[in-house]
Amino acid sequence: MLNKKQTKNWLHRFGYDYTNEPLSKALCGELAIEAKCDPSTLGSKGYGLAQMSALGFPIPPGFTIITEGCRNYYEKGERLAQEIWDQVVAELQLLEKATGKHFGGGPFPLLLSVRSGAKASMPGMMDTLLNLGLNDATTELLGHATNDFRFAYDGYRRFIEMYGSVIMGIDHHLFVEAIEAIKRQENIPLGAGLSLGALHTVIDRYKQIIFTHTGTTYPQDVFKQLKNSIAAIFASWNSPRAVTYRRLNQIDDQEGTAVTIQSMVFGNRGADSLTGVLFTRNPSTGAPTLFGEYLINAQGEELVSGLVTPQQITKQGRELIQAKEDSLEEKYPIIFSQLSHLASALEDHFGDMQDIEYTVEQGRLWLLQTRNGKRSASAAVKIAIDMMQEGKIDGQEVLKRIDYSDLERLLHPTLDPNQTIEVLTQGLPAAPGVASGLIAFSPEAVEAISKKEQVLLVREETSPDDIGSMAMAAGILTTKGGMTAHAAVVARGMGKPCICGAHAVTIDLPNQCLVIGQKKIPMGSYLTIDGTTGQVISGKVATIRQKPLPEFLTCMALADQTKRMAVRANAETVQDAAVALSFGISGIGLCRTEHMFFSPDRMRMFRKMILTSATASRVDLLAELMAVQKIDFKALFQVLNGLPITVRLLDPPLHEFLPSHPKEVADLVVQIERPLAEVEKRIAQLCEVNPMLGHRGARLAITFPEIYKMQLQALFEAALEVKQVALEIMLPLIFDAQEVIFLKKIIEELHQKIAPQIQYKVGIMIELPRAALQAATLAPLVDFFSIGTNDLTQTTLGISRDDGAKFLDVYRAKGLLKADPFVTLDQEGVGALIQIAVTRGRSAHPNLKIGICGEHGGDPSSIQFFESIGLDYISCSPYRVPIAKLAAAKARV
Ligand code: PEP
Ligand code: MG
Repeated sequence: MLNKKQTKNWLHRFGYDYTNEPLSKALCGELAIEAKCDPSTLGSKGYGLAQMSALGFPIPPGFTIITEGCRNYYEKGERLAQEIWDQVVAELQLLEKATGKHFGGGPFPLLLSVRSGAKASMPGMMDTLLNLGLNDATTELLGHATNDFRFAYDGYRRFIEMYGSVIMGIDHHLFVEAIEAIKRQENIPLGAGLSLGALHTVIDRYKQIIFTHTGTTYPQDVFKQLKNSIAAIFASWNSPRAVTYRRLNQIDDQEGTAVTIQSMVFGNRGADSLTGVLFTRNPSTGAPTLFGEYLINAQGEELVSGLVTPQQITKQGRELIQAKEDSLEEKYPIIFSQLSHLASALEDHFGDMQDIEYTVEQGRLWLLQTRNGKRSASAAVKIAIDMMQEGKIDGQEVLKRIDYSDLERLLHPTLDPNQTIEVLTQGLPAAPGVASGLIAFSPEAVEAISKKEQVLLVREETSPDDIGSMAMAAGILTTKGGMTAHAAVVARGMGKPCICGAHAVTIDLPNQCLVIGQKKIPMGSYLTIDGTTGQVISGKVATIRQKPLPEFLTCMALADQTKRMAVRANAETVQDAAVALSFGISGIGLCRTEHMFFSPDRMRMFRKMILTSATASRVDLLAELMAVQKIDFKALFQVLNGLPITVRLLDPPLHEFLPSHPKEVADLVVQIERPLAEVEKRIAQLCEVNPMLGHRGARLAITFPEIYKMQLQALFEAALEVKQVALEIMLPLIFDAQEVIFLKKIIEELHQKIAPQIQYKVGIMIELPRAALQAATLAPLVDFFSIGTNDLTQTTLGISRDDGAKFLDVYRAKGLLKADPFVTLDQEGVGALIQIAVTRGRSAHPNLKIGICGEHGGDPSSIQFFESIGLDYISCSPYRVPIAKLAAAKARV
C-alpha cells in the first residue's frame, strides 16, 4: 500500500466517474492521486481520456503515468523508479476493485491496454499493446469466465505477437509468416478465424520464435509484462526514429512521453461487439457530417491493418461508396445515436473536429480515445469557418487554426493522393504547385512542344531571355540557383510551379537528356515537379485543382479585418496585377520595369538600344521604347483604377540584357543588323566581374540618364492620359543622399515639362547597408522607403543571391544556419539594419511610409518581424498575397 505522506503523484486516474460511482468515490479518497490535467503532463491521449472522464463519458477506467515519469526514467539511468512502480501496483488494486476483475488471476482476469502518448502526436513512436495480462493460466481462466476459449486464446495469440515485436523487438514479419504457414497447413480460408486447435499451434510457434530470437522465454509473470512494457515505452522516446521525428517537427526532446494503462474492453466478443473510428466531420471535405467506419467482432488493430474492409457508420456514407453492408446507423440505431450524441459533445468540448476510437462490447458502448482529427487543407479551412459560423470559435481562433500550407494548397493544383509516384530527387521548393510536362532544355524547344503538349522548362538557371518560354511552360526546373534566383522570383510571380537548385539533376546537352542518378530521361519525355515539396517525380502524374471555396474568401475577409499592415503585390503585367487584385491588394508595391522588356520584340528593341554607341540613333530607339512602355503603364494604371503603384526605374546591370552564348550573339547580330565585331566589342565593354555590385540601379541613371528620362516620360504621359493614378516613383540601389538629389532633379524637370498637374511621390529602395545607416539623411528627401530584402540580404551577408544555395545547404545540414536567409529574414543581421533604417528614417521624417518588397514580404515568420517593427506595408508576388495577408493577421492575434 502507498505511503500517504508521499509528495509526488506520478499517476492520473480516469474513468471512475462513469464506471462505478459509489465505489470510486470511496476508493479515490484512499489515494489522493491526481496530476495536473494538461496535454504536456498527460500526453494528448491521456489528456483526452482525462477530459472524457471529467465529462462522465463511458470510458474504461485506467490511469496515465505522467510525462515527468519519462524524464525521471532517463535521470535514473534508464530505470523505472521504484516509487512509480509502487504507485502503479497500488493503482492496479483499485482498478481491480472497480472492474471486479483480477490482474494475473481469476475468476475473471483483468486485461490492460498500454499506450505511449506524448503531447504532440508522434507517428514514429511505439504502437499500442492490447490484451496485456494474459499468460498460460489467465488465458485458460478467461476462457472459462467468458465461456469462449477461442476468444481467450485469440487474445493470447495477439498479445504474444505484439509483445514479441513491440517490446522484445522481434521482426513482426516472422509472426505474420508463422500464422500464414499454419493457416495454409490447416486449410483455413482467407479472412476466416483460426480454430481453437490452430490457435494453440500458433501460440506454441510464437513462443518458439521468441525463444529463438531472444534466448529468453516470453514472461508468464503479468507484472513483469507490465513493468517491461512501461520501461520499453519510455525507452522508445529516444529511439532513433523518434529522435529524427522530433528533429523534423521541432519537438522538444525534454517533453517525454506519458504511458496510459487502461482496462480492456472487447470488440471481439461476438456479433453484438464491434470496434471503430469516427471523425466528427468529414476530414477530407470538411462537411459537417459524422464520418467513420466499424468492424463487427474485431479488435482495433484489425481496423487499421487494412486486411478486412470495414463498414461505414452512417447511411449516407454507405450510399456514397455504394457499399452493401449495413451502416452502424442502420444496423445498431441505438448505439449510433449514443455515439453521435457523445461525438458532438466532444467536439463542442474541445472546440475542434475530433477523431474518436470506440468499442462496443456485448451491446455496451465505450469510448477509448479522442483527439483533434487530422484533415485535408480544404477541410481545415472549411471546418474552421463553419465552426465560427456555428458560434463555436471566434474569428481570431479561425486565423490561428488555418495553416499557410492549407491556404497554399487551396490555390495550386496538388498531387492526386490516390496514385503511386516515383520521386527521383529533391530540389528547393521555389514556387508551389504541381506540373507535369515533356522536358525541354531551350526556349525554342519549349515553343515547339508547347503548341501540342504541356512542357517543363529545364535549365541550369534561367535568365530574362527565358521569360517567354517560362510563360509557355507548365513549370520550371533549374539545377542551380536559390529561392530568390531569377527562375524562382519569376515563377512565383507567374504562379507557375518551380523547383530550383536540383543539384542531382544534370542536363546532358550533347545527348539531349537529363541524368538523375542512374536514370537517363531523354528530351521530350514526361517529368513532373511538385513545387510545394521540391520533389522531382518520374513521368506524368494526376493532379487535382481545388476551386477556391467560399470559406477561402471568408478567411481572407477575416485576415483583412485583423491585420494592420497593408498588403501589396509585386507585379508588372496586367495579368499579374489582375491575379493580385482578385486577392484584394492595397496596390502594387513593386513594378520592376525591366521585366516589361522581357517579351521577344521588346527585348530586341532594348538590346539594339544598348548596343548602339551613337547617341543620335540611341535617342530614336529610346523613343520607340518609350512608346511601348507608355502603353504598358497605361494598361497597368487602368486596371489599378486609382490604387497606388510603386514603379521602380530600371535596376539590373545592362549586360543582363545581353546574350552570352555565341549562337545567341550570332542571332542577335542578324536581328539588329549590326556587324558582329561591333556587337562583341560592346558586350565586352558592358561586361562586369561583379555585376550585382556594379553598374546597376541608380548608378545606371547617373551615367546614362536618358534611359530613366525615357521611362519617366512614359510614366508621366501615361498618367496624364489615365488621370486616376496614385503614382509612386522608386529609385533602386541608392546609397547616398547626393544620388537622390541628382535624380529627383531629373524627375521634377520632366514632371514640370510633361504633367505638372499629376501628383506623384518619390521613394528609394533600401538595399544596401549604407542606405540603412544613412536613413536619417535620406528620409527627408523622399516620401517612402521600400526595403529590398533580397539585395539587402545579399549585401549584408556578402552572399550572392544567385550562387549562395550551393553552400547554404551545407551550412543548414551542419546546423550552422537555421534557415535560408534569402527565404526567412536574418533578423539579427539584416533585421537589425532594417530596424535602424526605420528608427532613423522616422525620426528625421515622421510621416515616412516604409514597406518591404523583397521575397521576404511573402514569408510568414519574416512578416511577423515586419509587424513587430511597425512597417506600413508588405509587398509580395501575386500568388503569395493570401499567405501574406494571413501572416499579417496572425501576427496581430
Ligand atoms: C530586392 O532587392 O529585395 C528587390 C525587391 O529587388 P530585386 O529583387 O528586383 O533586386
Ligand atoms: Mg534589389
